[in-house]
Amino acid sequence: MEKTMKIGKRFEGKVAIVTASTQGIGFGIAERLGLEGASVVVSSRKQKNVDEAVEKLKARGIEVLGVVCHVSNAEQRKNLIDKTVQRYGKLDVVVSNAAANPSIDPILQMKESVLDKLWEINVKSSILILKDAAPYLRKGSSVVIISSITAYQPPISMAMYAVTKTALLGLTKALAAEMAPDTRVNCVAPGFVPTYFAASLIENESAKQEIEARSLLNRLGTTQDMAAAAAFLASDDAAYITGETLVVGGGTPSRL
Ligand code: NAP
Repeated sequence: MEKTMKIGKRFEGKVAIVTASTQGIGFGIAERLGLEGASVVVSSRKQKNVDEAVEKLKARGIEVLGVVCHVSNAEQRKNLIDKTVQRYGKLDVVVSNAAANPSIDPILQMKESVLDKLWEINVKSSILILKDAAPYLRKGSSVVIISSITAYQPPISMAMYAVTKTALLGLTKALAAEMAPDTRVNCVAPGFVPTYFAASLIENESAKQEIEARSLLNRLGTTQDMAAAAAFLASDDAAYITGETLVVGGGTPSRL
């Protein structure tokens, strides 16, 4: 987070869980919510990564709890919610951010096990974590699902991943109806952000330049760009917005 950036305190007194949040976009969202006053719960598969993320956030003065949670592990999902409620007594915001992209095979050549993994982590786990969280989400609470700009136009090299992200747009609409009026459910569709997850796509300079040129703003996205959008949707500034997807892609073609 840029030191010069002016941010508010929209999450004072609130408790937020962000899945897959020990690096990249998830970490950026946790950091932003924390800097705006939330108590944040960070999680990912590896204890070491959780510990490191907790230390980084504490160093920024953020109240934080770290819990190991592989999103496709039912026990760990339940433990994430339980530990949050035990520590903070409530839950106001859930950001479902975890995703996998295990193969670049064309869809019809994908192994069934790979198809299962994609659906399981990218779609089913988002549903199941919210199922565990739902009993604690009170009036004024908020859910943000992280999709992708690829949801609108699946690229050949990551087509099935993109299709699971398209499913999240529908899931956002469906859950917004199901969880209304107490809980708002919205979605962020990031453009390209040079995280570990996306590193292989910009291995060479010309690939990077091509992606930059597709955006109207001539640059890649940052984790802070995504965090600002997620924080807006999760906050009371978006109190009359639910069931929507916000594309944060610097004008890269997506939808009308
Ligand atoms: P990233 O930098 O690679 O970070 C991934 C994070 O997720 C790490 O903290 C990792 O920690 C954790 N993680 C991975 N698998 C997990 C699992 N099964 N359960 C729990 N935690 C897990 O990734 P990112 O680029 O920030 O991506 C975050 C989200 O943004 C994803 O939903 C992705 O689809 C979406 N997105 C990214 C881009 C982009 O260009 N980067 C664009 C559009 C959408 P551990 O290794 O410790 O588990």
